[in-house]
Amino acid sequence: MGLRIGIDCDGVLRDLTGNIANHISETHPEHKDKLLTPNSWNWSDWIPFWSEDESEQYIFEDNYIDIFGIDCPPIKSSIEDWKKLKRWAEDEGHELVLVSAQREQTKEITDEWLKYYGFDFKEKHYTHQKWAVDVDILIDDSPKKLGIFKKKSVNNGTAIVFKQNWNTKSQKSKMTIDRLSDIIGRVFG
Ligand SMILES: [Mg+2]
Repeated sequence: MGLRIGIDCDGVLRDLTGNIANHISETHPEHKDKLLTPNSWNWSDWIPFWSEDESEQYIFEDNYIDIFGIDCPPIKSSIEDWKKLKRWAEDEGHELVLVSAQREQTKEITDEWLKYYGFDFKEKHYTHQKWAVDVDILIDDSPKKLGIFKKKSVNNGTAIVFKQNWNTKSQKSKMTIDRLSDIIGRVFG
């Protein structure tokens, strides 16, 4: 039977944290050496010279077009795997559904980004309540989103960790994939 497979955008398809680090280095060269490796969705963990509010302002107000737009590179393995994943889903009767927690001002720009890089989802949900979306599986990088989905998913769905260096704890308790094509044969035998 076909499954509905939810796929997150940032940290799974789009290399947002990498692009934020690059953008800060370009616009604030004086901070370049103080940036740490992106290791979390808590900005202050790796942008130590700004407060959480200052980072929010920089990312979501002052620079969001550059940060979320087509200058933001995709996660390399995801772009390599997309056609293969789509073909497999079609053959097996599965549906690929975007489930992404964008803010109001980044939704349209995310639509454009997805289109530009060829992630042609037929169905997209922009919501912070990912657990409320009708999907059987959620592939995500956020420990918080994965944890809530596992507990509250309306379909009693399976949370799958897209491996990143900020979700090592989640990897211990949940199925984990290194790249999108890894779900082929993992979940479905
Ligand atoms: Mg994410």
